[in-house]
Amino acid sequence: MKLILCPMCEDVVKLNLSGRFCDCGQSWGRYMDDGINAEIAGDAIPIGFANSELRTALTNRPRSGMGCTFSAFVIPEICDTVRVIRLPFSK
Ligand SMILES: [Zn+2]
Repeated sequence: MKLILCPMCEDVVKLNLSGRFCDCGQSWGRYMDDGINAEIAGDAIPIGFANSELRTALTNRPRSGMGCTFSAFVIPEICDTVRVIRLPFSK
């Protein structure tokens, strides 16, 4: 799962097919039709969740105490599945 983090407002937004802005409007991103590749714009920093680990953590959600962990990672500046574009429109 890909998300964007905006360094300006610190909002974290899950990408969708139509495109989403952060709260302040300086970061934007969307999935391409294949649901794997994405394009981002503005100040957006792409973040990934390890989907299988998230599913496992959700399945094993404890009733109390420490929560289940899963991996999240900052996607590198050069990545085959994330393309940086100019902001196509403003919020
Ligand atoms: Zn923002």
